[in-house]
Amino acid sequence: MEEDSQAFFWIKSEGQQKLATENMVPGNQVYKERLIIKKGIEFRLWDPFRSKLAAAIMNELDYFPFENKSQILYLGASTGTTVSHISDIVGHDGIVFGVEHASRVARDFLDRVAAHRKNVIPILQDARKPKEYFSVFGKVDVVYVDIAQPDQTQIAVDNCETFLKKGGYFFLVIKTRSIDVTKAPKRIVEEEVEKLKPGFQVLQTIDLHPYDKDHAMVIAKFKN
Ligand code: SAM
Repeated sequence: MEEDSQAFFWIKSEGQQKLATENMVPGNQVYKERLIIKKGIEFRLWDPFRSKLAAAIMNELDYFPFENKSQILYLGASTGTTVSHISDIVGHDGIVFGVEHASRVARDFLDRVAAHRKNVIPILQDARKPKEYFSVFGKVDVVYVDIAQPDQTQIAVDNCETFLKKGGYFFLVIKTRSIDVTKAPKRIVEEEVEKLKPGFQVLQTIDLHPYDKDHAMVIAKFKN
């Protein structure tokens, strides 16, 4: 993994090298993560047990297209833990569109994250209906999907077809138990990857163990 872009950092804390992002809103915590100041810059520790993107980095993620000024569509924003770190990375000139359909969760997302960060646009919509938020934005560099639905791959593909740039990156979190509890997790991941092959070049599949049980992340590039 190249780290020259300084999208994220390794900070020594409690005798260990820990993952962190530079806090875009100094003094502000999102999920009670530790804030550490080094050489006058404030960093937020990025917990791989709380964020699957951090877990993927810990497990040798080879592709990291989240950069300064990137435009990201994030489906399944929840209360915004991972969105907040992506917001740190893309910075003031980037943007993160966070789609969340559960209004109670979305309220926390607004209070904890979107209210403090101008580069986060909350969209209270169902990711199954991308046409409903079509007018909100144009094409993005990365589509990140973590919605834990049985038909999540189809939802993700529909969103990529509507919003992802040609050659853009696609990150799909597969919660194997939410697709079929009776099948072996490895088999489910293989089946979901097969579904992507017509439209995407699959680059990497990462098992998120031990940070997340029965979760995998697929990273792909959009051919269209
Ligand atoms: N990505 C989050 C993080 O790392 O902080 C955790 C996401 S959580 C596993 C899944 C979220 O997807 C839930 O908040 C759920 O309400 C949302 N979700 C599920 N189906 C959805 C849909 N069809 N449209 C929008 N959001 C959805």
